[in-house]
This record gives sequence, C-alpha cells and structure tokens, in this order.
Amino acid sequence: MQLLDGKAISAQIKSEIKIEVEKWIASGGKKPHLAAILVGQDGASETYVASKIRSCEEIGFTSTLLKFDSDTSEEELLKAVESLNQDPDVDGFIVQLPLPKHISENTVMEAVDPKKDVDGFHPINVGRMCKGLPAYISATPFGILEMLIRAGIETSGKHCVVIGRSQIVGLPMSILMQRNDYPGNCTVTITHSKTKNLKEICQTADILIVALGRPEFVTADYIKEGAVVIDVGITRVEDATKKSGFAIKGDVNFADVAPKSSYITPVPGGVGLMTICGLLTNTLKAARKEIYA
Ligand code: NAD
Repeated sequence: MQLLDGKAISAQIKSEIKIEVEKWIASGGKKPHLAAILVGQDGASETYVASKIRSCEEIGFTSTLLKFDSDTSEEELLKAVESLNQDPDVDGFIVQLPLPKHISENTVMEAVDPKKDVDGFHPINVGRMCKGLPAYISATPFGILEMLIRAGIETSGKHCVVIGRSQIVGLPMSILMQRNDYPGNCTVTITHSKTKNLKEICQTADILIVALGRPEFVTADYIKEGAVVIDVGITRVEDATKKSGFAIKGDVNFADVAPKSSYITPVPGGVGLMTICGLLTNTLKAARKEIYA
C-alpha cells in the first residue's frame, strides 16, 4: 500500500504556484487576487476559509475575506457578488458553502461571473467541463485528478466507482474520470443513496472515489485487492481526547481498508489539502486569463 500524501503533494504544488506567481509579476502581471465570501458562523466553514486565505498569503496572492451575518438577505449577498464581479482587481472569488437555508445556493452560484468562478460551480463552467472545453474545474475534483497524475496512477480502461452524486464532488468526478484524457478513460459507475448492492459494485472497482459524508462507512469488505481508494469525506466527530473536542474522520475506515489497497488517501492530510491547490491553480489561471479572455 502506498499513501497518497496530500500534505506533501499540496506543498509541492503550492511551491510551484509560488514560482509561477513570481514569474508572472516579474513579467509585468498583476498580483493574483482571490476573494472569499463567508456567511454566518459555521465552525468548519470558518476553518476552511481561513486556510484558503492563509494559503494565498503563502504563495504571493492578494486575498480578501468578506464576512456576513447569518441573517443577511439573499438580496444583500447578491449585491456583494455583483460588486466582486465588477471589481477589476479581483481575479476570482468563492462563496463558501453551505449558505443559510433562506438563501438559494443555485441563485448565488449563477450570479457569479463565470470568468471569476474559480470554484467551478457556475453552470457555464460545469457545462464547458462536460463538453471538454477549457473551464474552471471545481477544486476538489481538480485536486483528486492532480493526486492521480502525480502518483502516475494508470486510469485508462479501469473501472472507477464513485460513491455520491453531489454537484461539487461526485457528479463532476464521474464526468472527469470517463473523459477521453488522462486521468480518465475509465468505465465509470456513479452510485448514491438509492443504489442497490453498493458493496458488490464497490468490490469491482479498480479506483474507488468515496464522497458520501458518513464517517468510516467503507470497510475492507467493499474493496477489491489492489484498488486505488480516494477518500473525500470530512466529518467532525466528537472526541473528548482532542483539545478541539472533535476529530476529523473520512468516509473510509483507513485502518481496515489500507492493507487491501494499492494507493489510499488519509483523512486528514489527503484530498482536503489538495482542494485548496485546485482553488489556487484556478485563481492563477483567472489572473493570467488562461480560460477566458
Ligand atoms: P452531499 O451530502 O452533497 O452528497 C452526499 C452524496 O452521498 C449524495 O449524492 C447521496 O446520494 C450519497 N449517499 C448518501 N448516503 C449514501 C449511502 N448510504 N450509500 C451511497 N451513497 C450515499 O456530499 P458532498 O458535498 O459531496 O460531501 C461528501 C463528503 O465529502 C462530506 O464529508 C464532505 O464534508 C466532504 N467534502 C470534502 C471536500 C474536501 O475538500 N476533501 C470537499 C467537499 C466535500
């Protein structure tokens, strides 16, 4: 078993982006600028946004955090989105999900200018990705592809099973793994909460991508000997032995599954760190106008 070490790979990618930023600025380019909108006081969201902002500082981006109370109206939020759309200094921005229940995530996502949609959630970017056109690929799928590339994992002709069909992970991942490219060219099965015989389907996976949000759901009996196992899950579970009062768990029971797998991502220290790299890469592409003029 080999560990797909998100900590090491993401550190490598960040150092590569930092060099690219220095070159871009030396050639007269503007410092890339990522903005983030955070609504409410959700602990996990605050942690994610803080680490995105910290990463921007590490690699030489400008960053801006706009915070709103949880009772902010959809209208006020849409005004903030529009002002970032119009701000010539901001290359890309994200609206941290989830949003409070009274705000429609779809309405907000569609209000973001696709040219600045570095999370890759706008229907135009999703549609372009499906058609194989240049697009911002959403950050978590991007991070997973990058892990496969850097470990040199063969994907062509393999059976890839994705657990979960969410708009931000499972669905784009299934599309990317079937495209005629590397990584890709897999035969893909996408599974979800209504899937029958989930375990039997997973047992046929050469590559298993797990994103359902249930801690340690996947155990060794789901795994074919030698499978590649990508654990996207991040759930906070109470743990009195930790200073924070909680531990982070993936969707895969790592200790059980690792001995049977060829490659596996740990949680924490796996896909989560790669997600930030996806966002930073997209922001650099936005600053250099690589996807849209
Ligand atoms: P989601 O809640 O939007 O979707 C979960 C999906 O899992 C659904 O499609 C549902 O049908 C499926 N599902 C639920 N129970 C199932 C079951 N018993 N069998 C089969 N399928 C089942 O989830 P999401 O936003 O994709 O997130 C999934 C997990 O990934 C969460 O733990 C989340 O925190 C984590 N996540 C991590 C990152 C990262 O950067 N590592 C990014 C996004 C999400």
